[in-house]
Amino acid sequence: ALVYLNGEYLPLDQAKVSVLDRGFLFGDGVYEVIPVYGGQPFRLQEHLRRLGQSLAGIRMAQPLSDGEWAAIFERLIDGPGDQYIYLQVTRGAADKRDHAIPAQITPTVFAMGSPIAPIPLDGIRAVTLDDIRWQCCHIKATTLLANVLLRQDAVERGAAEAILVRDGCATEGAASNLFIVQDGSVITPPKGHAILPGITRDLVLELAQQHGLATEERRIRLEELQKAEEIWLTSSTREVLAVTELDGAKVGDGQPGPVWRRIQEIYQAYKQGLREG
Ligand code: PLP
Repeated sequence: ALVYLNGEYLPLDQAKVSVLDRGFLFGDGVYEVIPVYGGQPFRLQEHLRRLGQSLAGIRMAQPLSDGEWAAIFERLIDGPGDQYIYLQVTRGAADKRDHAIPAQITPTVFAMGSPIAPIPLDGIRAVTLDDIRWQCCHIKATTLLANVLLRQDAVERGAAEAILVRDGCATEGAASNLFIVQDGSVITPPKGHAILPGITRDLVLELAQQHGLATEERRIRLEELQKAEEIWLTSSTREVLAVTELDGAKVGDGQPGPVWRRIQEIYQAYKQGLREG
């Protein structure tokens, strides 16, 4: 399969960028991950809108129109199987390393397709860790060193994800949004600079509301997380994961809970409905 780089379609091993690319030197860029089901990008408009917001957040213009992006994705999609498009836009290569943004610079635009890994339906372990990230977590920046270190810390503790805690409240995962179920109500932290505005988060809220589940967008204190009936983590490639163990203690009875089973059913039905469209 080919990848897209700056207007060309190339084999992956021939796609090369300059060592002066500011994505390489500074992590000066943004990205998106868009799932593709049955050959169709899922929630495409929402992902492209967020890309525009991330670009604006780092003072960059959209390098391509929505139609141009869609045409690229169409060429990268490889058969009907579940896959995802990874795309990234960096500031581009300057002629020297300098933090300040050069006046004239051409962005580097890259996109590739990959298969989606199987999703664990029997629940995952998570650990809570101090949220050491910066204060612009709403920007989907390629600058992911804190997330990398947090995820690694979680893995070394035998967990699949870190749930991050800032000012006494759980914000989100290292690469996922957070939900809890408390007294039957589905609760997720509000949007703002402390979390990425997840596309899956919005969809889960929307679907929960449509199906009559009680929802709340509000801060989740660490003690509430620890006592939650259910904990879920959402992301584009992992959908809605149940957390069945938090910091070595069972969540509920240690099995994915009834509200998770319900949202999972609703989410899968929504995906299937789009496919049959
Ligand atoms: N939060 C962070 C920090 C992420 O990196 C991600 C995605 O990987 C998410 C949340 C989930 O966002 P989405 O549902 O748009 O994939």
